[in-house]
Amino acid sequence: MVGAGPVGLLLTALLQSMERISVHLYEKRREYTRTRMVQLAPYLVADSVESYSADSIDGDSVEAIFDPPELDQGLAFRQSIPSDLSALLKSWSLGFCPLNSIERSISDLIDARGNGAERTAAVVTTEEATAMLQPGDVLIDCTGSRSLLRDQLVPGSGEVDEGANTLKVRLEYALVITFLYGQKYDCNEYCKYSKNIENPHYKFIPMVHRTHYDGSVSHVTGVVNISAREYAAMPSRFDGEWLRRHFPGVAESMDRFIDKIKEETHGELLGDLEIVRIPLDLYRARSATNRQLLAAGPSDHPFAGSPVFLAGDSAIGSPYFQSISLGFECAMFLAGLIEQRDLPIRDMLDRYELHIYKQWLRVYMRSKMIKHNKDLFESLDDPLALLEKLHIY
Ligand SMILES: Cc1cc2nc3c(=O)[nH]c(=O)nc-3n(C[C@H](O)[C@H](O)[C@H](O)COP(=O)(O)OP(=O)(O)OC[C@H]3O[C@@H](n4cnc5c(N)ncnc54)[C@H](O)[C@@H]3O)c2cc1C
Repeated sequence: MVGAGPVGLLLTALLQSMERISVHLYEKRREYTRTRMVQLAPYLVADSVESYSADSIDGDSVEAIFDPPELDQGLAFRQSIPSDLSALLKSWSLGFCPLNSIERSISDLIDARGNGAERTAAVVTTEEATAMLQPGDVLIDCTGSRSLLRDQLVPGSGEVDEGANTLKVRLEYALVITFLYGQKYDCNEYCKYSKNIENPHYKFIPMVHRTHYDGSVSHVTGVVNISAREYAAMPSRFDGEWLRRHFPGVAESMDRFIDKIKEETHGELLGDLEIVRIPLDLYRARSATNRQLLAAGPSDHPFAGSPVFLAGDSAIGSPYFQSISLGFECAMFLAGLIEQRDLPIRDMLDRYELHIYKQWLRVYMRSKMIKHNKDLFESLDDPLALLEKLHIY
């Protein structure tokens, strides 16, 4: 396994507890330092089809995309997750948590168990990954959005062609803005509307479930849509002070939003705004395995021998705070496949590809729906602009 971000770590912890499997995990970072707050989707710890499908945006897509036996198998796998790991998953699905605390907790759990997993701190190159492969090995790439192997898994001239195996859809450019507020603050669609009512542009949209009160402080994260030109003129991360100086229009809109929260709940902003500017992209590996190379028969392509899988952001990436959950979901499915030692490799690859494709369909439709709803929301007070975006029939 290459890459010990959240997905590589979860997959290692799942495989580590299985019989007759040993994992060698390679990671280039020596420390987990990413402090951004994330939350896992409740469906990861669902114990019934109803709770797995309970989602206000696309719950009804679940039974349209997945067949009943697939849903049942997914739920059965969740029930079989060792209690030390499932307790962690449950706690992360309840509220916000820093990304590095998820990474450290799984990392510590793997080390504390003490068997079935070997770890090496190293940057792994494609050549090294290939050279290490022995008969019976499975190579899993969990190296994130800039995947080490994604574009090398399909037949080609031998040259690595960037994008050869990647489909990308850019939805928008956005500022992800996070702040802490010293009172309880919950948000819903009415709140998003009323607090933005004087903001014709740069509406701040807290994500549903992105406000979390921990007893004394509310963590609030949301997005503001920006243009490609504005995106290009900003550093990758900055604070409220920088925003006020360089983009006063966005800052005023944020201030109006926060003032309205204060009017309502009489609290104070704690510290400054934390701002990251990112393109909100949806992408997928057209092939999440090397099955095309294996099907083509023996060749001198480096990945024509052993099965290779992409997991986490290396296989699918999505905006709007859903990506880790999706990566965890796919990791669980892959671990369930690897556990079935008598499953022929070809079936394993086919089933993983189908599952990844279905997860892609779901997250694609879901993300387009969120974007569409956001676009309509921007024009709520302008019926003609709203109608332009509706395309009813
Ligand atoms: C601002 C921001 C906010 C976000 N908020 C959320 C959120 O709230 N909820 C959510 O679900 N998602 C969120 N995400 C997305 C989330 O962080 C990613 O989906 C998640 O980190 C992906 O996990 P991963 O393990 O697949 O990849 P990564 O986290 O990218 O981990 C990949 C690992 O591989 C290692 N690696 C890479 N190349 C090599 C190599 N050649 N050799 C050895 N090691 C290598 C890297 O060091 C890294 O540790 C957010 C992203 C951003 C940018």
